[in-house]
Amino acid sequence: MLNKSIAELNHALHTKKISSVELTQFFLGRIKQFDTELNSFITVTEEQALQAAARADAQLAQGTAGPLAGIPIAQKDIFCTQGVKTSCGSKMLDNFIAPYDATVVKRFNAAGMVMLGKTNMDEFAMGSSNENSYYGPVKNPWHLGYVPGGSSGGSAAAVAAQLTPAATGTDTGGSIRQPAALCGISGIKPTYGRVSRYGMIAFASSLDQGGLFAKTAEDLAWLLNVMAGFDENDSTSVAHDVPDYTLTLNDSLKGLRIGLPKEFFNPSLDKEIANAIQAAIKEYEKLGATFHEISLPNTALSIPAYYVIAPAECSSNLARFDGVRYGHRCKNPHDLEDLYKRSRSEGFGKEVVRRIMIGTYALSTGYYDAYYIKAQKIRRLVRQDFDDAFKKVDVILGPTTPTPAFKLGEKTSDPLSMYLSDIYTIAVNLAGLPGISVPVGFIQGLPIGMQLIGHSFKEARLLNTAHVYQKATDWHTKKPEGF
Ligand code: GLN
Repeated sequence: MLNKSIAELNHALHTKKISSVELTQFFLGRIKQFDTELNSFITVTEEQALQAAARADAQLAQGTAGPLAGIPIAQKDIFCTQGVKTSCGSKMLDNFIAPYDATVVKRFNAAGMVMLGKTNMDEFAMGSSNENSYYGPVKNPWHLGYVPGGSSGGSAAAVAAQLTPAATGTDTGGSIRQPAALCGISGIKPTYGRVSRYGMIAFASSLDQGGLFAKTAEDLAWLLNVMAGFDENDSTSVAHDVPDYTLTLNDSLKGLRIGLPKEFFNPSLDKEIANAIQAAIKEYEKLGATFHEISLPNTALSIPAYYVIAPAECSSNLARFDGVRYGHRCKNPHDLEDLYKRSRSEGFGKEVVRRIMIGTYALSTGYYDAYYIKAQKIRRLVRQDFDDAFKKVDVILGPTTPTPAFKLGEKTSDPLSMYLSDIYTIAVNLAGLPGISVPVGFIQGLPIGMQLIGHSFKEARLLNTAHVYQKATDWHTKKPEGF
């Protein structure tokens, strides 16, 4: 059951070559075998998984099963799961059992998918290496001394090591695309509003978007069919029709106009990544696409703008963790202020505290206009850059990250250099656009990714552009040794 696409798993289940219980046992076995080392799961829900698999088998037997029924999936531990610990990678929520399912979880459950467990992540999704998790770092299956990327590092590593065929993630500034690139798999961040945020613990609400990891763009299309859609519980979810993303996967790329932002191909980009992207460009030319230089002049401002907006929103979102309603509470507080202070200082890790402090400062009287309003104005300009570019091109192509995976511990004492790993992904969140990362090569055994960016709600075109490339190349078929 290794190396099988979602379509192949669907076929095997529907033709009774394998049962969902067997398939689930197979992946649970792999988690047991490999995850002590990788640390990609925070919680494994073995019992519930086997029950869900038995239900899927019953549906398959009755002929009432949908396309994803019986196929395993892992949920990032940021999505609330009823009756199952939802920690968000934080000591603050180490004791939190969610009383309800996030809409995303509900949708996959209703489709008959089998949740294997909850994946490790940077605390409250803040990070680019998964080293900010209360549950310890996740290791990159391609090299255990390297980071898998973050914040959805657990989901990415679990898919790369084939402990699960698919996993969810969230992307506020790059947390799906960057770990997908660093782990050699495919990952999609849909348009802001395409996927419900209900029950997805908030980091920076105007940027957060749920999405997916899988081996290929084709698998992502099958999964997005279920995940996308309007949700009346999320006021920012958009009531646009959801197309069947699998139907247009094989559309010809003849005449597709692809933009290359000159700001993405600068000296800070690793030479070998630049070469791999050039090779992908050649491949696309053979497939009939045309290339056009474009400019996204405000790219350099996107990191500073993000690091005002994201901390500002997080300082407000994380105010709810006060030791009173839920989450960690300090022992023997001597008054209310002491309760707040100690519960929060004990419950939150260093990076989260740093962001809360920056955000609180940026929102304070006298600084609000100078920082927050200014950053919002930059955000508008960033969006304008993309709107202008999409008048000339259909898709934008570039690297996902400036370098391949780095060593565990290499950037932990230098937050600024860590923040720069998202230089190519963050502007996409500021603009609310969809982006996908697919494998395009290796540097000394470490995978690298190519990012495709689309205009709002053009996920189908992105998946098509990525799928046709994957049919012509084999980077996405490479697997880390030892798993
Ligand atoms: N690495 C970025 C940060 O630390 C983005 C994280 C994310 O997308 N959740 O904020």
